[in-house]
Amino acid sequence: MSSTLRDRDPDEIRAATRIARAQWQETTPATGEPAYTLADIAANLGLEPWETAALIAGDVDPAAIPASGRALAAYRRQVMVALTEALTAQRVPRGQIASRLGVSPRTIDAYRYDPTNAKHREFRLLRRGTCRRCGRPTTYLRKGRSSALCASCRPTSAPSTWTRETAVQALREWEQTFGFRPTLQDLDRARAQARGPDAVARLDQVRVPSPRALRRLFGSGPAGLQEAFDDPADHPQPGGGDTD
Ligand SMILES: [Zn+2]
Repeated sequence: MSSTLRDRDPDEIRAATRIARAQWQETTPATGEPAYTLADIAANLGLEPWETAALIAGDVDPAAIPASGRALAAYRRQVMVALTEALTAQRVPRGQIASRLGVSPRTIDAYRYDPTNAKHREFRLLRRGTCRRCGRPTTYLRKGRSSALCASCRPTSAPSTWTRETAVQALREWEQTFGFRPTLQDLDRARAQARGPDAVARLDQVRVPSPRALRRLFGSGPAGLQEAFDDPADHPQPGGGDTD
């Protein structure tokens, strides 16, 4: 995953910043409520929500955005924390901050009380498990559980290993594990990382195909979700004639 902001020139960044900040401040005249969520503005600008948060929170130097990995994750969290702090300073209630940023209220708590994620990292480190196969430490998941196998013993998650059958099985396993059906956002690791530790922990716990893998297997992400969750009796398989 990387940032598309990194590819934009300074003029484009300035223009996007102006739009993002204006829309973030805009209210609906009738209610006085904010007119746009972070996701709305991100969609308007063709950016990720966290990139939009970066534009709103401060002056963005595209060259200073880390290319990938932990540094990028830290940067993403930092801009979400900055926006949370700004709204908190304006006495916006926790639930409203959560809905404007598109994360759960628990994630807002985490942004406030563990802004750098250091406490959460330490917590997970202390609760790591032991790999069943090689004895190396494994990742802590949640609710007292850790992975059975370490990263090097786990089967690869390369999209080419998915088949239509294993993808459908994995999506149903997700629903059974977490009690709700995944959206394409839930399946996208970059988006999960922007949304917070809960979303990432789910992806670490149940291995699921990415939206890209669903596109490859089923033609589109929604088609993959439909294949896994819709009652086939209601939706006859599409026949010939609509292939392109
Ligand atoms: Zn191992």
